[in-house]
Amino acid sequence: MLNELYDPLIELNKSDLLPIILHEMRAPLSNINASIEMLLHSAVDERTHREILEIMGTQSARLTRLVEEFFDVVVLENNGIRLDLQPLALGPLVREVVKSFCYPVSTHRFDVQLPPGLPLVLGDRNKVETILRNLIGNAMNYSPEGTLITIGGEDRAEGVVVSISDQGTGIPSDALTRIFDRFYRVEDSSVPRVRGMGLGLHIAKLLVEAHNGEIWVESKVGEGSTFSFLLPKLNLEDAP
Ligand code: ADP
Repeated sequence: MLNELYDPLIELNKSDLLPIILHEMRAPLSNINASIEMLLHSAVDERTHREILEIMGTQSARLTRLVEEFFDVVVLENNGIRLDLQPLALGPLVREVVKSFCYPVSTHRFDVQLPPGLPLVLGDRNKVETILRNLIGNAMNYSPEGTLITIGGEDRAEGVVVSISDQGTGIPSDALTRIFDRFYRVEDSSVPRVRGMGLGLHIAKLLVEAHNGEIWVESKVGEGSTFSFLLPKLNLEDAP
């Protein structure tokens, strides 16, 4: 009976995820606590008050992202993934995700080059959105503000390919084979410090593979990176 109950914490302990998540949660939590203390017990002018609230907002967003990423990994790695597959048009979804990244202001320029008439794929809308968010978010994180991010699409025999290209730091060739591994981050002092856990690409890979798709990267240090994924096309027999 006990075996039938799924307890993510047991899995977390097994794979040493728990100490890592607790460690990573400490910094934003103590930041938020210190901010609350300051607001409660110090006389701050209106501008400082606003700045403290903004810091709290950023830290709270970071905590939320950490919790979501850990949750995704635990569920995905335990084959807990349930895909709600439906005919999906990638073009409108890509444009929607890009629009949300550009609101209220855009740090980057975007060029969405998806050919008209791209075939439908068989996909889970929320999960494909997560894949796009992780890849486009990374393109923004690891390239300088104001540079161009190009999103392309291609109709191939094996499926529909979406590619996200940036003009960022690029990835050293020895890191390319490990880039989708859990917790892997490129340790390079020339890369501006972006706070992350090394889970976003791992999650994207698990999600793409759950769709029977493929994900890959091409990159050159100093020139930028292109992350691509392929999702199988909708076949007539798949149609509901
Ligand atoms: P995170 O960004 O949270 O660290 P990811 O799994 O999304 O985790 O990415 C893993 C690592 O891959 C990053 O830490 C970064 O070193 C590298 N990386 C990912 N995307 C890019 C990109 N577009 N350009 C350069 N490096 C990247």
